[in-house]
Amino acid sequence: MIDTRELGRQPGSQREVTLSVPAPADLGIDVLSVPEGAQVELDLRLEAVLEGVLVTGTARAGLVGECARCLEPLHEDLEVGFQELYVYAEHQTPHDEDDEVSRLEDDLVDLEPQLRDAVVLGLPFQPLCTEDCPGLCPECGARLAEDPEHAHDDPIDPRWAGLVALAQDDPPEK
Ligand SMILES: [Zn+2]
Ligand SMILES: [Zn+2]
Repeated sequence: MIDTRELGRQPGSQREVTLSVPAPADLGIDVLSVPEGAQVELDLRLEAVLEGVLVTGTARAGLVGECARCLEPLHEDLEVGFQELYVYAEHQTPHDEDDEVSRLEDDLVDLEPQLRDAVVLGLPFQPLCTEDCPGLCPECGARLAEDPEHAHDDPIDPRWAGLVALAQDDPPEK
């Protein structure tokens, strides 16, 4: 929660805030997320406007996860920007109630929903350890990056090979 009272509800008044907060649970997606309690660094600009407070910020945090192809652990740095208008309680219209309008509660900003959205949007759909990670051997599960030449006595039935190749193709970009 960030207190906006210092802005005095004066349109145009601004404040820069830098803070470090522990990550909430489930900040990210299944395969890549900020561990709960890890530090999230926030650089924020709070700007009073007529109907509320505009918050523009950058969040930085460390991600952990696993490669979508070979399941190796991944560590990545994340930096995402976000911007959101938080509307003063008395400026809300009935229309806002069912809308996705962010509100100030007692002049306090709750950043968590926006932080969560920004982080999820900033994550790759399929995190990979390296861009051309070859993944796992479809027969034995070995990491092909470590052992690209390995072969099996009983190779995949050629009638299945096409399916295997299909299964390893990237899904279309979203
Ligand atoms: Zn990988
Ligand atoms: Zn194998």
